[in-house]
Amino acid sequence: MKVRIFDTTLRDGEQTPGVALSPEQKLAIAIKLDELGVDAIEAGFPVISGGEMQAVRGISKAGLKADVYGLARTDQRDIDAVVDAGLANIHTFIATSDIHMQYKLKMGREQVMERAVESIDYAKSRGLSVEFSAEDATRTDREFLTQIFKAAKSAGVDRLDIPDTVGYSTPQYIAEITRDAIKATGLPISVHCHNDFGLAVANAISGIQAGAQCAHVTINGIGERAGNASLEELVMALTCLKFNEKFETNIKTERIYSVSQYISNVVGIKPQPNKAIVGANAFAHESGIHTHGVLSNPLTYEPISPELVGRSTSFQVGKHAGAHGVFAMLTEYEIAPDKKQLQQILEKVKGIGDSGKSVTEVELLSIAGEVMKLEALESIVKLTGFSVSTGMGNMPYAFVKLNISEKDYTATDYGVGPVDASIKAVQQITGTIGNVKLKDYKLNSIAGGPDANCEVTIKVEDAQGNTAEARSVGKDIVITSVYAMVDGINKLMLKKIIKAKRA
Ligand code: MN
Repeated sequence: MKVRIFDTTLRDGEQTPGVALSPEQKLAIAIKLDELGVDAIEAGFPVISGGEMQAVRGISKAGLKADVYGLARTDQRDIDAVVDAGLANIHTFIATSDIHMQYKLKMGREQVMERAVESIDYAKSRGLSVEFSAEDATRTDREFLTQIFKAAKSAGVDRLDIPDTVGYSTPQYIAEITRDAIKATGLPISVHCHNDFGLAVANAISGIQAGAQCAHVTINGIGERAGNASLEELVMALTCLKFNEKFETNIKTERIYSVSQYISNVVGIKPQPNKAIVGANAFAHESGIHTHGVLSNPLTYEPISPELVGRSTSFQVGKHAGAHGVFAMLTEYEIAPDKKQLQQILEKVKGIGDSGKSVTEVELLSIAGEVMKLEALESIVKLTGFSVSTGMGNMPYAFVKLNISEKDYTATDYGVGPVDASIKAVQQITGTIGNVKLKDYKLNSIAGGPDANCEVTIKVEDAQGNTAEARSVGKDIVITSVYAMVDGINKLMLKKIIKAKRA
């Protein structure tokens, strides 16, 4: 069965606490989603603001392949706003659970039913294709839910949606009410699942197995509170896992990772490292046992091939590392230690690991250089001195001392801020040596609050156009930035050395 993917990253996803997107950003995301192959895009809630209206209009005019939807309460003004935004599809909703009707709507069941019917009727009269959601369906009286769905059908609704608004359903219950809805109406059913108990994807799959044709999802699972069912998890589970029936989607899975990265950069929320499919560690291995397995056959410890979602396997060196993994990483740089050397390298790696640190690629290469007496690999840039001054009334300036191949270099430079000054000082030194320039700089706060960890990602480029990326995490923005810069320069220089050796 072909499952329809209804993406609500731009509506429910944008309701993530702390997220707000400009019309330009929303349009750029909509284009990415369309290229990914989603069947429907919920572009926003046009009535809420002028900017939102402008954003939805822009998306409706963009000529996307996907059906573009606008959200509306069961209210003429909301429905008119969807029409004004130029859309042909509406997602309209009213709450149907007793708790929502009593405390939020202050309406009785009959009134709610009437309002739903009137609004569907009105939306149809305005020429829209209508998907109707019974908000909080999974906490709604089961008999009443069936009644309101039947009433929606007689009002001419095109699709029905079962929202598990607060993630309260079990996989079994959502399957039961999905079957109820199909039996009562015969209409196409969607499921809209939230992740408050970590069951969003499981519930969505259960609804689909019970006959729902469509799932509402978001990229990276962003959304209100604990978020929505994530597109990448749902699509990959439907595509790769064994079910009694075969499921397919229109998603171009090899684009999943790049779209996930794009959206996390725009909204400023990174998926947690252990997040399925798109987390930094989803295809990374450190343990010697796992690395050995993956190197002989990736399927030993990878349920799917990472290429399927546009990624690749990565190995991390640390205290759990084994000889196979370290050897494989060094081979990538065409460094082949003999058995004894490999053992020595491994011991040093484990020593660093035991002291509570992870070993970067550059450090591994530097260790190999030391053990194997590879002169070229010893020319690593080390940060040996650093100070920065910033304040009001004078330009921030930085002093940097680097040690390269046992020789000290110092530089002082000014900038618009302390990070700028420090990076300029580093570049002053490395510019004369390797002509290395900073091409890209990104700063993320990992957790909120004034003592948050920050994450700096940089990209450096030399005069020949060789590039390297590096990432550093720490408490101090300035020092973390300088470490990332130094690490990037090292990676670039090592790459060049190895390239030269190959030529
Ligand atoms: Mn929702």
